[in-house]
Amino acid sequence: MQLVLPWLTMRRAPKASRSAKAPSLLQVGTETFPIAIARHRRARRYVLRMTPEGGLRLTVPRGASIEGGLAFAKKQGAWIAREQARRQAQAGPWAQGTVVWFRGARLPLVVDAVTVAFADERITLAGAAADVRPAFEAHMRTLATAELPPRCLDLARDHGLTIGRVSVRNQRSRWGSCSTRGAIALNWRLLQMPPEVSDYVILHELMHIRQPNHSRQFWREVAAVCAGWREAERWLRAHGRELL
Ligand SMILES: [Zn+2]
Repeated sequence: MQLVLPWLTMRRAPKASRSAKAPSLLQVGTETFPIAIARHRRARRYVLRMTPEGGLRLTVPRGASIEGGLAFAKKQGAWIAREQARRQAQAGPWAQGTVVWFRGARLPLVVDAVTVAFADERITLAGAAADVRPAFEAHMRTLATAELPPRCLDLARDHGLTIGRVSVRNQRSRWGSCSTRGAIALNWRLLQMPPEVSDYVILHELMHIRQPNHSRQFWREVAAVCAGWREAERWLRAHGRELL
């Protein structure tokens, strides 16, 4: 079970109808996008993603119509525009003044010839860098590897849970995961979130040891250990994409 990034989804797939022939281009507002359609037997809902190349990818669950999925995609003009703007802002090289998330705050990077500084952090650069993003990410991953596993172990102990290995990863499509054997993987980007949101992600994964699903019982377990889980989910929905 995993906490998936907040892609745009529609919870209930409309009833199946005769599928329209799938177009390879989709007109949304005044723009035309290449769109790839994939049927997924295990998908529970329509999912619309933007690919790294800027095209659209629509996942259609079994029993749902491609037609319905395309109608859903066509209505997402506002989301598509936001997604494009976000990508343009992030695409440029990171340099002096680039604003980054760190422990729930948005901070400008202070960059000179040999260092990158933000909050109390100071990264020494190997040499002048046109883009300091790789140095920032490497530093964050090191910090996260030192901080997140002990935090996860503390929270597991608080709730009487026995867990397996805790690893910190550079996942592009999820905040964390919990294997059937209780091995927990956490995204280093948790360190960019407010601490209570990071704790929620960890508790969410820990509760999967009790409930390896997203049943009502699972959410009851989450609510019992994390009163602010709804606010945390809201934060992730509002800002999650800005961390990528
Ligand atoms: Zn989950």
